[in-house]
Amino acid sequence: MNTILKKIDKDNIDYSVMEMAGEILRRGEMVAFPTETVYGLGANALDESASAKIYEAKGRPSDNPLIVHISKEEQLEPLVKEIPEKARLLMEKFWPGPLTLIFKKKDTVPDGTTGGLDTVAIRMPDNAVALAMIDAAKVPIAAPSANTSGRPSPTTANHVMDDMNGRISMILDGGAVGIGIESTIVDVTGEIPMILRPGYINKSMLENVVGEVAIDKAILGPMDENSHPKAPGMKYKHYAPKADFTMYDGDIENVIKAINKRAKDYIDKGYTVGIICSDETRQRYQYGDVESIGTRQNEITISHNLYRILRDFDDKEVDYILGETFNTKELGGAIMNRLLKAAGYQVENV
Ligand code: AMP
Ligand code: MG
Repeated sequence: MNTILKKIDKDNIDYSVMEMAGEILRRGEMVAFPTETVYGLGANALDESASAKIYEAKGRPSDNPLIVHISKEEQLEPLVKEIPEKARLLMEKFWPGPLTLIFKKKDTVPDGTTGGLDTVAIRMPDNAVALAMIDAAKVPIAAPSANTSGRPSPTTANHVMDDMNGRISMILDGGAVGIGIESTIVDVTGEIPMILRPGYINKSMLENVVGEVAIDKAILGPMDENSHPKAPGMKYKHYAPKADFTMYDGDIENVIKAINKRAKDYIDKGYTVGIICSDETRQRYQYGDVESIGTRQNEITISHNLYRILRDFDDKEVDYILGETFNTKELGGAIMNRLLKAAGYQVENV
């Protein structure tokens, strides 16, 4: 398959390209598009055979459900059994934006889109290109991140090309994304909203709107083989670079010492090493390929750079990645959540 790559200026959208994308989506084929979080791989959410193509292109396990993207609030009602009051409040405050809500689904949403669940994940992205594309398609768009399953999510159209060239019909290149990590997912089917995946919209931002909010315990640690997480995707390997990735946690002076020592050991043995640090510590590392994820003073820069750095190390084919931990404030939970998964929960306390 020939993948068409089209550059789109989000401030001056070429609607003839949007029409072309809409036409492709209505035909049941796939279009990758930018959002404010990461690039999505879109297909008609109401067409089971179209969503099946997403699983195939990504190599994604079929019980890992997709998020349905809409561009207008009136698209929600035909998809869900009810819209709880707390969901309405959250939508009013955060849509369009990086918040995905889980609803009880109507039969209009095929099982193939929700991995067989009787619930459906829905969000309205805050990106002009994404909204114009969904408008042009005239159908809700199922879209997981546009990466090969397991790899770091794509934050540029080039990342999407690396994983999806020849597998999908079209990529809309709207430039680098803003936030850089996936949306917050909140289950609003119960009395107390429950965070299933942390993201830019954090617990206290949610609590300011709807009062008490719970966090699914699967977010906090690795899933064991026998558990049944609420968000099926939680049990799969995610966001992972090809190299063996370990983080070092503790007093920063100890962390620097431990990483330098380990990097030297590996290099002496003939391995290549990538180091993930911050602007504040960059000058302190003596060995390997040192990449700063940004200043610790700006959490959005950190989330923006995270997947790019993991993919850069993949491109350079380093054998080992050694990293600092990033237990920062607002976004910290979300950043550490992605880093822990990328590292397969390998953390050394020093
Ligand atoms: P991705 O778009 O690749 O970031 O993946 C979408 C994620 O959304 C899945 O891995 C699930 O964790 C979550 N998700 C989607 N639909 C549901 C649902 N109905 N219930 C719970 N979690 C969901
Ligand atoms: Mg994903």
